[in-house]
Amino acid sequence: MKAVSFHQHGGPEVLAYGELPEPVPGPGQVLVRLRAAALNRLDLWTREGWPGLKLEMPHIPGADGAGEIAALGEGVTDRQVGERVVLNSNLGCGRCPACLEGRDNLCRDWHLLGETVRGTYAEYVVVPAANAFPLPDRFDDAAAAACGLVYLTAWHSLITRGRLQAGETVLIIGASGGVNTASIQIAKHAGARVIVVGSSPTKLSLAESLGADVLIDRSQDEDWPKAVYEASGRRGVDVVVDNVINGTLMPGLRAAAKGGRVLTVGNTAGPKTEIDNRFIFGKHL
Ligand SMILES: [Zn+2]
Repeated sequence: MKAVSFHQHGGPEVLAYGELPEPVPGPGQVLVRLRAAALNRLDLWTREGWPGLKLEMPHIPGADGAGEIAALGEGVTDRQVGERVVLNSNLGCGRCPACLEGRDNLCRDWHLLGETVRGTYAEYVVVPAANAFPLPDRFDDAAAAACGLVYLTAWHSLITRGRLQAGETVLIIGASGGVNTASIQIAKHAGARVIVVGSSPTKLSLAESLGADVLIDRSQDEDWPKAVYEASGRRGVDVVVDNVINGTLMPGLRAAAKGGRVLTVGNTAGPKTEIDNRFIFGKHL
């Protein structure tokens, strides 16, 4: 099969397009013929590598994909060859207590497609049958492939863990990027009021087009936590979504209302920052 892969970590120049063996579905797996894959920030980080990341080379990046089932592995009897699918890139073992409870993200043998195992920048990929979700006809392949990783992440954070409710106010720090744009739409879908803090007018206009109710440009307003406080009716916000962290976590803690929830699934500006713990326990965050 044709695939994009790399033999060593580095910049875009390490990517190579060529022939690799077509994978064979094992028991419980399906072979998916990919029609679209998406580019996530994760793919760039994986290509660049980090200490402790040990990949089987050549590595094929790509966490997201959509296409159709091309072959069934042993024991897969309830799926059809030709069935359109979109991939769930969270690969649990399917056997441990966490997986059997449906909490496959907590699996101790968890993998992410394209990060720790070969991914979707190829004509074919093998995944557990349960990770190939039936794709409704109204979604085209490219739109579906763009959704998988970021919408699952944003939904799990905001709805499953954050328990966002209709009528609540959400602060989303960062106006662009996959997870944040997904979070804006999911929060609106849930009936929440959405305040977005962004770093440029262009990014904020994207957030507005996705339904954000209040836009705050932190490049123009250094005291943006105060602007958030005012926008929340001087009460603070119920939920803070912060995937920027370095330089934003503390202002986010300040912006949260008593009993609020602070959600994070990433740290695009760096993982470390100083916090004043009194805001966490004092406000029951
Ligand atoms: Zn497991």
